[in-house]
Amino acid sequence: MGMAGGPIVLDRVEKTYGGANGVHAIASLSAELRPGEAVSVVGPSGCGKSTLMRLIAGLDAPSRGSIRIGGQAVTGPVPDIGIVFQRDLLLEWRSVLGNVLLPAEIKRLAGLEGRASELLQELDVAGFAKAYPWQLSGGMRQRVAIARALLTKPTLLFLDEPFSALDALTRDQMNVLLQRLQTTQQVTTLLITHSIAEAIFCADRVFVMSGRPGAILDDIAVPFERPRRLALRETPQFTAIGRRIREHFEKTGVLVG
Ligand code: ADP
Repeated sequence: MGMAGGPIVLDRVEKTYGGANGVHAIASLSAELRPGEAVSVVGPSGCGKSTLMRLIAGLDAPSRGSIRIGGQAVTGPVPDIGIVFQRDLLLEWRSVLGNVLLPAEIKRLAGLEGRASELLQELDVAGFAKAYPWQLSGGMRQRVAIARALLTKPTLLFLDEPFSALDALTRDQMNVLLQRLQTTQQVTTLLITHSIAEAIFCADRVFVMSGRPGAILDDIAVPFERPRRLALRETPQFTAIGRRIREHFEKTGVLVG
């Protein structure tokens, strides 16, 4: 088991950028993510969601508090993470398969062609393996970005607003794919999103964050079995969770309605 195979424990993590008079991005934040769990983080812009992700990934250090993964303190970049951003960051001059295999080249790992093909199959883009990114729709490009992130079987998958640039229907389809991956890939997933429905649909737990400095206002268990179908969003149990999240945002003035 790699160091990322264990729980992620955040203990009173704080982040201030730029010294004493700087931006207080994250207040004292404590949380635990279990291995294999999918957690969504939903909160207003600028509340520290991306900061939180960077801190867990070891790309930035907390000002106070500690982060441990599998019992080991995070003191530098965590190697075992696949990351997906809003922009897919595909290389236009490489084929789809060439893009998915890029991490193998960088890490000098051989024999991952089968894994790459499997992932493209699972993400329903196998027919485009030889195509170039410019030939694909936004949703397909993002599927390729997800396949690339999963190539080396990371134990952590971080997605930072991955579907925000997609049209609403494509986004729904990506939500279905992402929750499916959660059952086929043994990966602990952290999904940052502004969509309440997406946060619930894709996750086992939703962290609701306050405005800056970011703190966790609520930690909500999402009990629905997988695989999940889109019709789930219309059930009373699902809408009740959505209401609970919306009420947090209304109480704190993030949403006025
Ligand atoms: P979110 O992802 O929730 O939109 P971020 O984590 O990106 O929020 O940012 C939280 C706050 O910290 C914002 O006010 C942002 O301007 C500030 N911030 C983020 N990164 C830096 C940085 N490298 N230096 C200074 N301030 C930053």
